[in-house]
Amino acid sequence: MEVAALFGEDAVRVVEVLKGVHEIIDIDVVDQTQIRLSTVRKTLYRLYDHSLVGLRRSRDKETGWFVFHWRLQPDQLEGFIFNQKRRVLEKLETRLRYEKSHEFYSCQTQGCRPLPFEQAFEALFRCPACNKPMVHVNNSHIIETLTRKISQIKKELSE
Ligand SMILES: [Zn+2]
Repeated sequence: MEVAALFGEDAVRVVEVLKGVHEIIDIDVVDQTQIRLSTVRKTLYRLYDHSLVGLRRSRDKETGWFVFHWRLQPDQLEGFIFNQKRRVLEKLETRLRYEKSHEFYSCQTQGCRPLPFEQAFEALFRCPACNKPMVHVNNSHIIETLTRKISQIKKELSE
C-alpha cells in the first residue's frame, strides 16, 4: 500500500483510524492502534506537513492546555499519492530508457557499480573502484522488471 511506502506501517494504521472518525485526539489514536504516543504524534505531524491531515486546536477548560484535533483530508491524500506515483513513473521511465540505450560492464564485485560502455571503455574495461577486469552485463532482467513495474503503475494511475 502506498501510505506504507511513503510514511511507514504505523502511518497506515493511523490513517485507518482517521478514516473512521471526523476528528480525533492523539490519545484516542494510541488507544485504537496501541502505537506509542510519541510515534503517533510524529506520524500525525508528518502527515500534517504534507497537508494530508488537518488540525484544529482547542483549549482544555480544566488544564488550560491546548488540545489538538486531527482529521484526515482524503482528497489531499489521493492527490498526494497520485503525484508520488507520477514521480516514480517518470523516474522508472528515465531509467528504462537509460538501460535500453546503454550496454553495461561490471567487475562483478559486490559494492562496485556497473558502468555504461563509454565509461568502461575509457577505463579500459578495468573497474575504477577495484581495478578488476570488467565484463559485459546482460541487463535484460532489469529491463523486464522496469517494464513490468511501469505498466503496473500506469494501470494504477488510470484506475
Ligand atoms: Zn570493481
